[in-house]
Amino acid sequence: MEEKFNLLKEILAEVADLQFAAAVLEWDQKTYMPPKGDQDRGYQMATLHRLAHARFTSDEVGRLIEDLQSYAAQQPLDSDEARLIRVTTREYMKNVKVPSDWVSNYSQASALAYSAWTEARANNSFPRFLPHLERIVDLRRAYAGFFVPYDHIYDPLLDDYEPGMKTKDVMDIFSALRLQQVALLKNIATRPQVSNSFLYQAFDEQKQWDFGVEVITRFGYDWQRGRQDFSPHPFTTHFGPDDVRITARILPDFLSPGIFGTMHESGHALYEQGINPAQRRSPLGAATSLGIHESQSRLWENLVGRSLPFWKHFYPRLQQTFPSQLANVDLMTFYKGINKVQPSLIRVEADEATYNLHIMLRMDLEIALMEGSLQVKDLPDAWNTHMQEYLGLTPKDDSNGVLQDVHWSGGSIGYFTTYALGNLISVQFWECIQKEIPDITQQIEQGDFTKLLGWLRAKIHRHGAKYEPQELVEHVTGSKITPAPYMRYLEHKFGEIYEL
Ligand code: ZN
Repeated sequence: MEEKFNLLKEILAEVADLQFAAAVLEWDQKTYMPPKGDQDRGYQMATLHRLAHARFTSDEVGRLIEDLQSYAAQQPLDSDEARLIRVTTREYMKNVKVPSDWVSNYSQASALAYSAWTEARANNSFPRFLPHLERIVDLRRAYAGFFVPYDHIYDPLLDDYEPGMKTKDVMDIFSALRLQQVALLKNIATRPQVSNSFLYQAFDEQKQWDFGVEVITRFGYDWQRGRQDFSPHPFTTHFGPDDVRITARILPDFLSPGIFGTMHESGHALYEQGINPAQRRSPLGAATSLGIHESQSRLWENLVGRSLPFWKHFYPRLQQTFPSQLANVDLMTFYKGINKVQPSLIRVEADEATYNLHIMLRMDLEIALMEGSLQVKDLPDAWNTHMQEYLGLTPKDDSNGVLQDVHWSGGSIGYFTTYALGNLISVQFWECIQKEIPDITQQIEQGDFTKLLGWLRAKIHRHGAKYEPQELVEHVTGSKITPAPYMRYLEHKFGEIYEL
């Protein structure tokens, strides 16, 4: 039986190799590839994805999985062996339902849609993107169709990003959260506004880059196992635990996207760099879900990077870096400014108190597209109506509205939801960290993140995909995903800043 287990591991390793090779091509496409390379790149990526899918869903894998069920049952429940067979079985049962034609069509469609989206956003032209997005939505609806019967057409999509999570669970969490967040925003709006105008000045791009590098090096990002490049939409990717890359988007006249974006991506990267290297090339050697992934990026970006203790340490360095811009801005003004709460159009620049509303809006629209109650051609109008309803704003054009995010071009429908879940989970973890590392505040004030990273490594990163997200959260915090800690955090933090 051990022989069969080893054979399965070998096949899974080959599948991982093909997927990582495709990821290298995708990284190249989003950083250095010349614009006209998209046609050929589309074919190359489609071929690799099709081969990986065919290898994984082969009869041989099916037989091995079937034969290994009894072997798995004999192993301790939490052993790597039992867990690997469980995760592989789950993924196999899903993948085998998806025809390989669909896989290559989808891969090719998203490679083309990405270029179209880049152009559409730059030229504020939704019509340029429209046929591509229509194709993506059709493919995604077809995808959901492979999983009939489901409770909701959105379930199969969500499950790809957040294993085990149902649309209804998320809707329950969001409807409770929305009321509380809106109440907090109303409360904040009654108070004098803080200023963040100092963030909108000319900031040398290389100096912003260098400052970000200094911070994330201190966080523990390992440059021997990673690198950073520019891209229009920042992201993290990995080709194994020893090659985890991040990208940055730096603006010459606005400080926040560069430094907070860099901290955000480093949070994702620290997770990937921390997964048990013994699980490389195995399905367990991956993040367990995008929600958990986002909990890590948001933890470093917000709970650390937008906190007062962090800036007690790093603000003098930032002032040294940008003396003419920041010499006359004191620490408290800076801290309040970077946490200014104000409904805005752009999700990636949204403050912590409004961010989740951007996500709820996207989830509503995605569900309508999937259900067929909204046509893609009507999406810009629907976007603007929802923006008004959720945040009280109307974008001046589609580039600042429906075209702002890269996700739909890549076919990622269901993905946004995990961002809000990540916010909630990050604070659930943070409450545990505060209990288990009682002097965490002093450590952050000293710019020392060793114990924090060690805690995350031991409790979360190391396990990779061994536990499902809800299981992991419960294991670490004693509770499933819940919005209460996040609301406690928002009310405390913004209660102080806005003297509520
Ligand atoms: Zn992220």
